[in-house]
Order: sequence, then structure tokens, then C-alpha cells
Amino acid sequence: MIDESTVRQEILKIEPYVPGKPIEDVKRELGLEKVIKLASNENPLGPAPQAIEKMKETVEQVNIYPDGNVHYLRQKLATKLGVREDELIFGNGSDELLALLGQTFITDEAEVIIAGTTFSEYRFATNIMGGKIVSVSLKDYAHDLEAMAAAITPNTKLIFICNPNNPTGTIVTEEEVKDFLTQVPDDVLVIFDEAYYEYVDHSAYPETIDYLADYENVIILRTFSKAYALAGLRIGYGIANQKLIDYIDRVRQPFNVNLMAQKAAIASLGAEDHLAKAVELNQAGKEYLYQEFDKLELDYVPTSSNFILVDLAQDSTQVFQELMKRGIIIRNMESFGYQTKIRVTVGLPEENQAFIKQLKAVLND
Ligand SMILES: *Cc1c(COP(=O)(O)O)cnc(C)c1O
Repeated sequence: MIDESTVRQEILKIEPYVPGKPIEDVKRELGLEKVIKLASNENPLGPAPQAIEKMKETVEQVNIYPDGNVHYLRQKLATKLGVREDELIFGNGSDELLALLGQTFITDEAEVIIAGTTFSEYRFATNIMGGKIVSVSLKDYAHDLEAMAAAITPNTKLIFICNPNNPTGTIVTEEEVKDFLTQVPDDVLVIFDEAYYEYVDHSAYPETIDYLADYENVIILRTFSKAYALAGLRIGYGIANQKLIDYIDRVRQPFNVNLMAQKAAIASLGAEDHLAKAVELNQAGKEYLYQEFDKLELDYVPTSSNFILVDLAQDSTQVFQELMKRGIIIRNMESFGYQTKIRVTVGLPEENQAFIKQLKAVLND
């Protein structure tokens, strides 16, 4: 008989990931023609024209395995970041790198310190390996690094810091991080997930690459999914001490990063004007949404990324469903324990306007 005893017991702890609802599902289920998705922090501008061109060229070469060492992208990125090529590792999205970190470092005695309200994949990577999650509540919507440092025990193996934090959009500052790192034992790994790095406009945001020289235990994760607009291709990267990279690399599948992704990522790195445009668009969209939330007297958390956590002061599940009927998909924050909040991704100007228009209609209902 197949039942719970058939599987590794660690599996039973895993809650399925709830993604932003796909546009096609909503169209089909609700019979809608036009649907705007502001639910998954995707870049509404789309990939750089150079990346699209490169992908078209590459289509005809997909009978060939990709370069397992990601040679050309590695070269280009190492130069851009000012790190050594052997300090980089690439993944099928940074999601894969999170899983690889779990497989490389977490045993069933290991404690993993994770913020109480953050990106769910850290829990997933920990649970699947049977590690023990030590949850530390946010303070003013941001990681409480003092409390996280205080939570370290001899069993602590990893500490995840999502900076900016998803879903709150807050950062931890350079000063906080510097102080924190001095308190972490040198065999406890500190992972900075910087998926929204390119969007950050906060003057106190730490340049964590600078810490690699002094801290062998720091790992930085970034991605081409958000500001570089390649979420559908799945490519992210890690930056760390070469010894750590070497260990993680042993767990990696030989061809984990596909051909299209490698080519498009190289082209995207060269498209600095396009990236700047995406960042500007986000900035302007943020300001617009802040203004509209102010007019509606809704509280929100000022964001350093491309999404905003907003308090609707009423049941968010209901508003989420009503917005969906009106063709707007946002993220309901109920599963994060925020009963009256939503997270909305900054879209194109017309998308932001449509969202505000429908939000007003729903709130007035
Ligand atoms: C979107 C996101 C990621 C996932 O990035 P991929 O590279 O697409 O796997 C990682 N971390 C955070 C905090 C994110 O919001």
C-alpha cells in the first residue's frame, strides 16, 4: 500500500509552493479576455532586444548540450562583478541554488535560521533535507539581525537573509550587516539572497561582494529573473569563496543551465540601457502607486524592490478574489499571516493605473 510511510518522512513537512496565478488559468476559469498579472515580481518591460535576438539565433542550436561550465557568461560576469571566475556558480534559477545549498550543507541535526516572513524557498530547501527551521520574526517588516545573531547555537549551519526581503520590500543596512557578520561563527554560512539587487535605490544597502574578502562563510545569490527579465528561462548565480563554490558544484547536475538562458544572460549583461530603463520604469511606477495608496489612505511598506506590501484594512482574500474577477492578479498575503495585506508588483504605467482603478472599485463595493 502506498501511504505516508512510503516516502522519506522529511517530505511530509513540505507545503506545496503557491505561485502567482498564471494569466492563462485566470482567463480560462473566469472567461476573461484581458488579464494583468502583478503577482510574481516579473519585469513588465520584457527582455532586452539584444537578448531576444540572441534567443532567436540560439533556437536552431538546441540539439547541442549547453556548456556545463557556463564559460562565456562566467567570464563576462566575473569581470563585471570584479570577482574570480571560480567564485561563481550558476543555477537553473536561484531557486536551484537554494536547493543545492540545502543538499550540500544541511543534515538532520542542522539548524537553519530564517526570517518569520520571507521567501518560502528557504523553508523548502531546509525541510527537504530534514533540517530544523529556527524562525525569527521580522522587526518593522525587516530582518531582525540582532535577534538572528542571538538565535545562533552550536547546531546552526545556515542563515538566510533576503535583502531586499520578499514580500515586504525592506532591506538590512550595511551597518547592520557589518555588525551581524562579526557575531557569526566562521563555519556558519550566511546567505544573502539579492534577487532584487538591481532595483535597490537605498543608500544604506550593503555591497556584500566587498565582504567576501574577509568572510569565507558569505554566499550571495542573484538572478536574471527579475530586473533582467528572464524569469521564464531560469538562470541565477551564486558568488562565494572558491572552496564553498567547489563543494556546492559537486551537487550540481552537469547541464543545469540551459543553452538559451546562457546566451540570453550574456546579451542582457551587455544591455545596460535596457536595465536602466527597467529600473527607471519601476521607480516611476513605485512613486505613482505610493501616491495613489496615500490618496486611498492605505498603509504600505516603502519598498527597495519592484513590489509593494499594502495593507487594505479589510480581508485581503476577498479583495484578491474580487480583483481577479476584474482581470487583475495580485498576491494575497494571507498565507504569510497578513490577513489584510496584498503584495503588488510594479507594472507598466497602464497596468498600474488599471490596478488602481479596479482596486478603488473593489474597495468601494
Ligand atoms: C524571485 C525570487 C527568487 C527566485 O529567482 P529565480 O532565479 O527565478 O529562481 C529568489 N529569491 C527571491 C527572494 C525571489 O523573490
